[in-house]
Parts: sequence; C-alpha cells; structure tokens
Amino acid sequence: MKYITEYRNKNLSKKIADKTNDYLKDYKGKISLMEVCGTHTHSIFHSGIMSLLSDKIEHLSGPGCPVCVTPNEYIDTAIAYSRLPEVIITTFGDMIKVPGSSSSLEKEKANGAKVKIVYSPLESLEIARKNPGKKVVFLGVGFETTAPLVASTILRANEEKLKNFFVLSGHKLIPPAMQSLLESGEIKIDGFICPGHVSAIIGETPYQPIVDKYGIPSVIIGFEPIDLLEGIEMLVRQIVEKDKSKVENQYKRVVRREGNKKALSLMNKVFDIKDSPWRGLGLLPKSGLYIKKAYSEFDAEKKINVKVEKTKTHPQCICGQVLCGTKKPFECTLFSKICTPESPIGPCMVSSEGTCAAYYKFKKQ
Ligand code: SF4
Repeated sequence: MKYITEYRNKNLSKKIADKTNDYLKDYKGKISLMEVCGTHTHSIFHSGIMSLLSDKIEHLSGPGCPVCVTPNEYIDTAIAYSRLPEVIITTFGDMIKVPGSSSSLEKEKANGAKVKIVYSPLESLEIARKNPGKKVVFLGVGFETTAPLVASTILRANEEKLKNFFVLSGHKLIPPAMQSLLESGEIKIDGFICPGHVSAIIGETPYQPIVDKYGIPSVIIGFEPIDLLEGIEMLVRQIVEKDKSKVENQYKRVVRREGNKKALSLMNKVFDIKDSPWRGLGLLPKSGLYIKKAYSEFDAEKKINVKVEKTKTHPQCICGQVLCGTKKPFECTLFSKICTPESPIGPCMVSSEGTCAAYYKFKKQ
C-alpha cells in the first residue's frame, strides 16, 4: 500500500477483522493483548477497531507512556531545579502539567519560574546560547525513540563547548519493562503489541529473549487501523494455532530487523545503561539511560546541586497499577470526577499517550 487512506480502508478493515474473529470461533476463553505503547491505546480507541473484533480479545494498556512511568522523584527534582533563579527548564509539553509531590512545572511557571516548552532538545541549545548567564536544564524523558536525539544534542553541546546546557536524564528502555510485567506474574498477557516507534530504533531482536524465555507472541505493529488489525490478526493466529511463539514485524515499512544503527550508536556513545526507577514497576535492572562519565559536564544531577522535597503520591491515584495493566482507569475513584485532563491528579491523565487520558477522551467506562 502506498497512500495513508489505504491503511484506513473500511472494507479491508472488516475483511481482516473477520479473519481474526474466525480464528477465535472455537477458542475457549479470552485472550489478553497488551499494547505496550500508549500511542497504540489511543489509536485503537480512536479508530474504533475494537467494535469489529471478537469480544474474546481483551486489550490491556501497558507501561509505554514515558511521562507516565517517570516517577515522582524525577518530577520533584525538575521542580526543585525550576525554583533556582539561575535555571531555565526546557521540556516537551507533556511534562509541564504532570503533578509532582506538591506542585507542577506549570504552577512553578505561573509563580515566575523559567520553564520553556520545546519541540526538540536542540532548541535548548539555542536558549543556552542566548542566555549565557543562565543554566539551561533539558528534561530528558522518553524511550529509545527520544534518547538518540538527546544524545546528539549532548554531542553538539560538547562540540560547541557550551558550558550552560545540562540534561536531567530520565530515559528508559522498553524491553526490561515488558520482561518485568511477565516476571511479576500479576497479569495474564497472551501477546504483546510491540511499539512501532521504539522498534524503529531498536529493531526486532531485543524482543527475542523475552519471547524465548516466556513464550509470549510479540508483534511489532504500526498505528493505522489496517496496521493494528493486521498485527492483531498475526498475534491471534500465533496464540490460537499454538505455533512456536515468535517476534513478527507487521510494520516493515518503518521497522528494520536490525533497527536504526546510527541512532543506536549515538545512544551507546552518550549513555550508560543502569538500573532505573519506574512508576508502578519499581526499580528495574538495566532499564534506564544515564549520561556517561565522558559527558558528565552536561549531567544536571552531577553539576547542579538542589534540595528535593520528600516525595509523596496521591493516595487514591492508581497510575502504577494502570501502567502495569492490573487495573483500568475507571477503577480509580478519582477518574473523570476529580481527575480530568484539565485538572490531572496523576500523569496517566496528562500525557497524550496516557491510558487514563485515552479512556477519558473516548469515554471507555
Ligand atoms: S484517573 Fe487520575 S488519579 Fe486515577 S489513576 Fe488515572 S491519573 Fe491517577
């Protein structure tokens, strides 16, 4: 297919969905498919494809929203930096509304803090050049998709010998989170809808050890309705036919088996992989990207001291369980009554990839 409209073709959608439902005709019980990535959750709701598919397919949302899995400690640290008069915070838009323990960057900005929304980390360099008397701290939140761009920004700052640009690195890796969900045994997952964007960087192979160890079919899937339906059909076929579980790639027009070697090498050049804390999942081994010693002059945590308040989370917010797929947003007592996109209590209601935001927008109750 060549044009985007072809990926939204209603007749073809129906045909693929019918084929998937046929596989399930004699299947006993339900199958649970986890969309690892929040963008898939939004695409599934937005496209309405669930109405075409058998109700034997249950969709679970996973931990693939970077803002949502960023723990309060990180947000509180960013807020503490924003309170320093010499600091300018630069960040992607989603982060600004996320509540920390007692404030948010949005509230700090209203109180006079210098918080600027950027669309690329490279914009932070321009802000740093224009403000030599200030320290510009970019909030590096994201998965493998974002990390290479942040790495190249750090390399550029290094080339220019910029002395007032820093990154607070909260980057995380997706495969360790998938592994952790299976390891916990708290949730039944029959198949993974693997994230298309992340896979464009890491390729197919990082999922293989998970499939080998846990025998869970995993398919890399794109974001258009035909992508989703084709990918779900591939997953259901593997599950029903009890094939040897494997990694399949529905999104071949974007994702190469070996991933994006250039982006991976940038990432490896600038970041070390270390244990990292995730909201809902706890401290996961080898799941975070931290700035290497060679580039530590750009590491905000190493170069700018700040006192961070004691972290606390809202006692009724169940974001952690929503991110693990063990609870649905409408099981939260605050959902849509007190917690809304206009007045979010937890990060899952803030981000454009957040599960609570998706359920709120598409009224899935
Ligand atoms: S509805 Fe709000 S408070 Fe409840 S889990 Fe979602 S983000 Fe947290």
